Amino acid sequence: MAERIPMFAGNWKMNLSLEESERLISQIKDGITNLEGVGVLVSPPFTSLPDVKRALGESEIRLAGQNLHWESSGAYTGEISAGMLVEAGCTHVILGHSERRTLFGETSEMIDLKVKAALGAGLTPIVCIGETLEEREGDRTFDVITEQLDGSLKNFREGKIMPSSTILAYEPVWAIGTGKTATPEQAQEVHQFIRQWVSENFDGETANDVRILYGGSVKPENAKDLMSKPDIDGALVGGASLKAELFIPIIRFRES
Ligand code: PEP
Repeated sequence: MAERIPMFAGNWKMNLSLEESERLISQIKDGITNLEGVGVLVSPPFTSLPDVKRALGESEIRLAGQNLHWESSGAYTGEISAGMLVEAGCTHVILGHSERRTLFGETSEMIDLKVKAALGAGLTPIVCIGETLEEREGDRTFDVITEQLDGSLKNFREGKIMPSSTILAYEPVWAIGTGKTATPEQAQEVHQFIRQWVSENFDGETANDVRILYGGSVKPENAKDLMSKPDIDGALVGGASLKAELFIPIIRFRES
């Protein structure tokens, strides 16, 4: 069985100027020189992608878009296609982030179309799922996660194949940007459930290979405990990915 290499993905959201972005990339590169056994990715705003790509140079750090439109071109003012992300240097794309779902009305059906478009262009999708506080308190976490997985990965289910490079990110909405982290036990319980869903809908090998990241107020102080859980394969990091002094120790969690 292949070992899953942990991945740490920095979601910059709508933050950082070009100058700040280049400085941060240079600090991250310096902070992880010679570090092996982890994957690192950054996801800047669209307008920064080419500059960040240049700043990354020969580094192994991967680049992701924060969203895309499922059509390849056309009259879609304000949108960006999968092919455009590839042209800008992206290898990955974050899809279905809870901010896209709640603030911009994205549905699982739309995310499914986006996943298909990403794959068609050769991008690895990072598909986000997670319950709100109300849903958790109403004991609906597993129903919501199942609904989101069923809907957002409908293409894969219909084709009965899920590329094992696909990355899933469990991000409880109540933990994003709030400072409230799910306990490692709470996160592990849901991650295990997600892996079981993959196994039931596809097969055991895919379930073993797929990486499931945790997202929600990950910081240097909680990264190691979260990473000690068997089904947590890395983190999608928002706020703490904007500061090298926070993001680097998260990536270097093994040393803390
Ligand atoms: C996110 O937005 O994906 C996220 C996890 O944010 P934060 O780390 O700030 O909670």
